[in-house]
Amino acid sequence: MVKDKIVNRPKIRAVFFDQDGVLYNSMPYHAKSWAWAMTKHGLPYTEIECYRNEGRTSTGVIQEHHMNMYGTDATPELIEAIYKDKTEHFTEMTGGFPGIIPDVDKVLKWLHTHGIQCWVVTGSGQRNLINALNDTFDNVFSGIVSSFDVRHGKPDPEPYLKAWEKCGFQKDECMVVENAPLGVRAAKAAGLFTVAVNTGPLPDADLADEKADIILHNMNELLNWFKQQ
Ligand code: CA
Repeated sequence: MVKDKIVNRPKIRAVFFDQDGVLYNSMPYHAKSWAWAMTKHGLPYTEIECYRNEGRTSTGVIQEHHMNMYGTDATPELIEAIYKDKTEHFTEMTGGFPGIIPDVDKVLKWLHTHGIQCWVVTGSGQRNLINALNDTFDNVFSGIVSSFDVRHGKPDPEPYLKAWEKCGFQKDECMVVENAPLGVRAAKAAGLFTVAVNTGPLPDADLADEKADIILHNMNELLNWFKQQ
């Protein structure tokens, strides 16, 4: 097996990309729409809390906050109402499509050209965004794991373990690109090398605390990192 020169691990054959904040520039709109919808339904919530909880499924976000505030589970009706309002607000602000993180298309194209598989591993359940992935990024993806495919969302390792099982490579032939602390926690719990690209407002320390192997700040840095491997 070919060893790379920097971290002395086998050659990477698959990269698992998180979706929101890594592929789509959607987090500012998710944060605004979560804060608006939760607060509307009696669960005051800030945008920065949304970033701290990024990666959880929508049900997980609502349940966690409801438990923190009231010590009880949210009802299915409340979860549905908040999620409906959140999704409508997101769609109003973005027209349904938030755009991509600058230059991430170049990273995907470079990996695809070099025979390295690209996968999407997301806690998202927004079908329109998931369905748009292949059109948006020229069908580079070998597979997509979304909230519809797992029982436990991030920070549970299940989503990343599912992608690893599906791709069929060894763990040290796979790696993760994440932007969120809980996403890094999920990836590291799955035993995968993880590059954090900090595209949001949280401090790098939040990603370091979750044991990200490398922390970068934009997709050009990530592209250059891949080229050096
Ligand atoms: Ca994310």
